[in-house]
Amino acid sequence: MKNVVILGSTGSIGVNAVKALRKLGKGWRALGLAANSNLAALRAQAREVKPAYVAVFDYKAWQELKADPPKGAKVLAPGVEGLVELASLAQADVVLSAVTGAVGFAPLLAAIRASKHIALANKEPMVMAGALLMKEAERWQARIVPVDSEPSAIFQCLAGLKPGQYDAALSRVFLTASGGPFYARKGSLAGVTPAQALKHPRWSMGPKITVDSSTLMNKGLEAIEIQNLFSLPISKVQVLVHPQSVVHSGVEFRDGSVLAQLSWPDMRLPIQYALTWPDRAPSLAEPLDFFRLARLDFFKPDFRRFPCLELAFEAARRGGICPAALNAANEVAVERFIAGRLKFTGIPAVVEKVLAACRGGKAGLTLAAAVETDAWARQKAADAAQRMR
Ligand code: NDP
Ligand code: MG
Repeated sequence: MKNVVILGSTGSIGVNAVKALRKLGKGWRALGLAANSNLAALRAQAREVKPAYVAVFDYKAWQELKADPPKGAKVLAPGVEGLVELASLAQADVVLSAVTGAVGFAPLLAAIRASKHIALANKEPMVMAGALLMKEAERWQARIVPVDSEPSAIFQCLAGLKPGQYDAALSRVFLTASGGPFYARKGSLAGVTPAQALKHPRWSMGPKITVDSSTLMNKGLEAIEIQNLFSLPISKVQVLVHPQSVVHSGVEFRDGSVLAQLSWPDMRLPIQYALTWPDRAPSLAEPLDFFRLARLDFFKPDFRRFPCLELAFEAARRGGICPAALNAANEVAVERFIAGRLKFTGIPAVVEKVLAACRGGKAGLTLAAAVETDAWARQKAADAAQRMR
């Protein structure tokens, strides 16, 4: 029996993960579920999968849940404490982290230190301090299997190699991007509304990552995530705009051979793979049809029109605490944009200001420094955004 904990079970990844467990059937069980505040969705899931533990971050939601817990479930502490407790439960075999943002940092670290098999969708902590988290994972013999489709593709292409061999074996990794809703749009992006940015052409995802996809910050965050997951220099990461979203990413070995992973865009595949790794289970997704697909297009990304991508690569090159600052500034800016309090073009402007104020060289990164930088950069970003109104 595999006991699975799902952090962020009510979100886009979390809901699909619950479905994946149902499909995997006998031998798989949702041991614990956590959300922020969506009690209706959490209760419905709890009725279906009967978890032994539930947690919600939001205090008001927690009070309500505590007063009327789902049948048979223990309600853990509110805030990050409940998430950390869930992530390190002794009975948990697999921890799927699918919360959004830096809030996933402490639970991820807890899962690592509890030596778990971690299915990781929550990319932000890997951006903040991924190199150190990977070292911790090695020390505690935890295994991090990416859920995000692009790192998952690369992970799948590297099966058979040991983590220490990746850099020597690879000359490049190809990180594909759909381009988001504005890739082909002409003219200024200043007037883009939240409603327009929240409509992704290929993927249906939570609001934060959908906006990140429209600014291409998502690709920048993924580039840093990949740099850290596979211990590669950022100069080996090449972004390709690929509107069909069928080639999910690939690698080029030093002898010039290229491997890539392909499927129709459907997150159920990488979610299931991250759960069942190193095994593969029968597919939930529609099989790829090359005749229907007919063609695959690839374009160079436009770093000037999408400055978030350039800023992320700059943060990656500078290293140290800079990626943590970039990530926090972006989280604040995106939240304000969605709330109608910042222009679309204000997102890179805020991130740029915070990154310019970021000090500390490559050596300055510790786990504590990443968390401190996150708090510092949030304040800086809020001040910068306030002045742009
Ligand atoms: P959603 O916004 O759809 O879901 C987020 C989930 O996290 C919800 O269950 C939400 O609970 C929960 N959550 C948010 N904040 C907290 C908190 N403070 N404490 C506890 N739970 C919290 O996001 P997605 O599923 O789209 O994305 C999740 C992560 O996966 C992100 O890091 C994203 O970058 C990554 N990812 C997502 C992909 C996708 O296809 N969606 C693809 C690749 C990566 P509630 O419902 O109560 O708000
Ligand atoms: Mg992705």
